[in-house]
Formats: sequence, structure tokens, C-alpha cells
Amino acid sequence: MDYDFIVVGAGSAGSVVASRLSENGRHRVLLLEAGPSDRRLWVQIPIGYGKTFYDPRVNWMYRTEPVPGFGDRINYWPRGKLLGGSSSINAMVYIRGQAADFDEWEALGNPGWGWRDVLPVYRRIEDHTFGASEEHGVGGPLHVSEASDQAHPLCQAFFRAGDELGLPFNRDLNGKSQEGVGHYHFTIRNGFRLSAARAFLWPAMRRSNLRVETLAQATRIVFEGNRAVAVEYVQRGERKQARAGRETILCGGTVNSPQLLQLSGVGPAPLLKSLGIEVVCERTAVGQNLQDHLCYDHVYRARQPTLNDELYPWWGKVAAALRYIAFRRGPLSLSVNQAGGFFRGGPEQPRPNLQLYFSPLSYERTPPGVRALTKPDPFSGFLLSASPCRPTSRGYLQIRSADAFEAPAIHPNYLSTNSDVAELLTGARFLRQLAATRALSAVIAEEMKPGPATTSDEALISDIRARSYSVFHPVGTCRMGRDPATSVVDARLRVHGTDRLRVIDASIFPAVPSGNINAPCIMTGAKGADLILQELC
Ligand SMILES: Cc1cc2nc3c(=O)[nH]c(=O)nc-3n(C[C@H](O)[C@H](O)[C@H](O)COP(=O)(O)OP(=O)(O)OC[C@H]3O[C@@H](n4cnc5c(N)ncnc54)[C@H](O)[C@@H]3O)c2cc1C
Repeated sequence: MDYDFIVVGAGSAGSVVASRLSENGRHRVLLLEAGPSDRRLWVQIPIGYGKTFYDPRVNWMYRTEPVPGFGDRINYWPRGKLLGGSSSINAMVYIRGQAADFDEWEALGNPGWGWRDVLPVYRRIEDHTFGASEEHGVGGPLHVSEASDQAHPLCQAFFRAGDELGLPFNRDLNGKSQEGVGHYHFTIRNGFRLSAARAFLWPAMRRSNLRVETLAQATRIVFEGNRAVAVEYVQRGERKQARAGRETILCGGTVNSPQLLQLSGVGPAPLLKSLGIEVVCERTAVGQNLQDHLCYDHVYRARQPTLNDELYPWWGKVAAALRYIAFRRGPLSLSVNQAGGFFRGGPEQPRPNLQLYFSPLSYERTPPGVRALTKPDPFSGFLLSASPCRPTSRGYLQIRSADAFEAPAIHPNYLSTNSDVAELLTGARFLRQLAATRALSAVIAEEMKPGPATTSDEALISDIRARSYSVFHPVGTCRMGRDPATSVVDARLRVHGTDRLRVIDASIFPAVPSGNINAPCIMTGAKGADLILQELC
């Protein structure tokens, strides 16, 4: 089985890479995906991410090691395991990040990744509902929608609350500035989830030069010297091998790409040797620099109906289902993160450093992080949440054994810096300020969590440590950079010290961008494929 390119992982980035590399018809491309096809009801219906959140058929369902900053709590990490990867199970919020995030990537030694370089890539992949402008593109595969006409009426109270605090309504949170409150944009088209697979891969799968193998988990990259020449994989219990004449491209995501590198002998030598893995290329940085966004919720009982009133009773579920079937509209056609925004936690901040989420629904009775979207609380309730944009805590992950089917040990090291704790405290205080505005206090019956008794900094910090959770944006474990001692890939995404091997996914991000990261992952897929194709010319 000989190919020009082997792409490992059909997620947000991998779907784009495989699609672009097969576009001109000249290259034979093999795409290996550990999970199944994405043609499933709860994947395609937007609200279905509440169901896939705990479905082992389409989800790797990782768990972190005990996190000291969380009082040794273990955090749940869903990751998509199917065509589309995490873009097939995510909450569909579309945020590109701040211009300064990418300028920082460039300043860290990565030429070609500044905002002026990545904005044209975003514009090229987008089909934005706002139409073509300096900021947005149209006609690309990725339709970006906005659902202000369907947003729950309570979102208006949230916007007025922001305004009272000097945080004005921002019609376009992907425009010139993120600052303000507004409706989130979604990767949803005509009431269906628009994962990277649906947008990029489905059309490409008709090409005869692209072969997509599902339920095919790569277990090792085969090297000749330091040159990657083939990939071993297991499909339905059978061990197979495919050869890559030109390149092997890892798109397995922040957990799996460093895992596969380590399994294949590229990683910290002492770790590999201790597990009996032959060292092909010593790369200490593989698995390091792990960073992620945390979120902290305040839960309110409301005086007015919320989405709970629509989705809790059985007749409400039936009505929502009928509305969806007839018109592809209503709560089933949307993410529950209907509104949000970005703000500066203090006057010293040069740009927004905290993100807000407003969900007109609550699931207070379920443990933190669990998305019981179709089983909300039996009373009117909603959530306000704060999430620091650029945390400073750094963790790492590493394989536990040479067995490719054993999950790696994940040490996210959340809340290990004072500044991260202080930022979440600022976020918590801001949520209280929002709740105390005329607009929101009129609709709040009671703060259920953390509750009115939690007032001192100590009490709030203890609640933050007890209830914060990942919003599933881990990045950085195959960091891009110039120095092979501290990074894994160079600015062209080639693995330092190896030949014909690249990583293209969230793991290459040197720093997590401000906001949700599916859009940056898709952009990285498109830009990474450009880099490969340029070198062929
Ligand atoms: C529950 C959830 C909600 C989220 N909500 C949002 C949101 O609303 N907005 C947003 O912007 N971001 C959101 N995210 C984050 C975002 O979706 C991810 O960060 C992004 O999709 C990651 O892209 P990726 O290409 O790096 O990896 P992934 O999309 O995770 O793709 C990796 C793919 O590689 C496959 N793979 C891994 N190892 C192997 C192997 N050895 N062999 C073969 N295949 C392999 C995996 O099965 C997977 O399909 C969310 C994530 C989750 C999990």
C-alpha cells in the first residue's frame, strides 16, 4: 500500500489537510482515522453534543491525572474519535482569536504565522453569513452562521447587563475587536453541524486519489534512519502498514500526536528508554507546554422561563423535535452557548483577557463539566461563565507504556500560577457584577452556585478550585518554534531532527489563542497544507 501522503487523524485540521492535498488529483493520499464515520444522528444535529459527550463509540473520553490546583480532582477530557474529530462533538462556537495572539506566535520565532498571514487563510476557508469584507470571506467550504433571530430572549438581558457595566454590544465577536458582548457565531449550516469533515472531507471523499480508512488507529511511525517512511496501524484487530513516499502528517490532536511521536521513538529519551522504546530522535519537548482554557460557572434560578422550561418537560422535548424536523430551527438546531463576549479584567490589560459565556439553560444537578443539554434542571435556570483567555499554567503528557491503546498520562497542571487563580477570581467577581445589574437582577430569583454565602476571596478561590473545568481547548504539546530544545516542529511544521514528518493540529500552537479554538485548528490545517504544497512546486 503505497501513497504519497499519509495523514493520521481526520479531525479539524486533518480533514482540511487531506482535502487540500488530494485536491489537484496528482497525489495519492491515505487518511487514517481511529474512529468511525460521522454519519450519525447525534453528530449531525447540533444539540447532539450533549449525547456524544460521553459516547465511547465516538469519543476518546480521556481523564487527567489528579490536578493539584483542583485539590486533586480529576478532570474529564472528551476528544472526538470519528471523522471530523473534535469538530464533530464540539459546541460549534466559531471564534478566530485575537490578531495579537498570532502576532505573538510570530514573535515567538514562527515567521508566517502573524495575523496578516493567517487572516487571508481564514477569509479563504470561510463562507461567512455577514458577507465579504476586510474581516470575512465568502464562498469557502466553512459556513459560519449567526442565530440572533433564534436566540433566547434572556440573551437581551445579558447584553443590557454588559452595557450597564460599560461592555457594549459587539455585533461581530470575530471583527476588528473581540471586546464586548454579543451573539456567538456557529459552524452550523441549515440546522446541521458543520464539522471540518462535513465542510472539507465529505466533498473530497468522492476523489479516487483520496482513501479514507475509518476504525484505523495508527500505532507507530516507521523510520529509516530519521526519515519517516511508513505508518503501522490496526484496523478491526488486523495489523497493517502503509508507506508514504513523500510525507507523513500527524493530525491526531493535542493528546494523540505527541503520544504517537513518543510511541515511535521521538520524545524525551529517558522516558522512551524506561518503556523499552528505541530512541529515533531525542525531542524533550514532545508532550510538554500543555495549556488549556478553564471555565467557571455561576448558576442562577430565574424568574422568567429559560431553555430549561422548553427542554425539561417531555412535551417540550417533543415540540422542539417537531420544530426541528419541520423547520430545522429551535433549540435543537443551535449550540446552548448562545451569547458571550470578551472583556479586560483590569485597566492594565492591553486587550481582553477574559471570555464570557451566557447559556439560557442550567444543569445544576449534574456534576461540573457534564453536558446534560437535553436533561436540564426542572426549574427555570441559566448559567454565566468566565474563562481566562491566555492562562500561564503549563502541564505535560506522556505515554505510560509502549502500548498504543493505553491512554497517556495527562498532567494539565491547572491553576498552578498565582496569576491564573487571580484571573479566575476577577472573572468570578465580574459575573457577580453582571448579576447585580438592573437588567439581570430583575430576572434572577437566586444565585444557586456558588451561592450568596460565598463572598470572601478565599471562599471564591476555594469554589474555583472545586468547580472549574476544562472547556476542552488543550494545545501546545508539539509546540512550534525555532529551538529544537524547547519546541517540536519548526514554522513549516516539520518535526525537528526528522525528515518527511510534520504535525498539523492544535498541538503545534505555541500559545493558546483567545477564545474557542476550532477555527484556529481549521486555519492551521489549511495553512499547513499550503506549506506542503508550496514545497512541491
Ligand atoms: C466537547 C467539546 C466541545 C468543544 N467546543 C468547542 C467550540 O464550541 N468551539 C471551538 O472552537 N472549539 C471547541 N472545542 C475544541 C475544538 O473542537 C478542538 O480543539 C479541535 O477540534 C481540535 O482539532 P484537532 O485537529 O487538533 O484535533 P481533533 O479534531 O481532535 O482531531 C484528531 C483526530 O485524530 C484522530 N486520531 C487520533 N489519534 C489517532 C491515531 N493514532 N490513528 C488514527 N486517528 C487518530 C482522532 O480520532 C480525531 O478524529 C470543543 C472540544 C470538545 C471536545
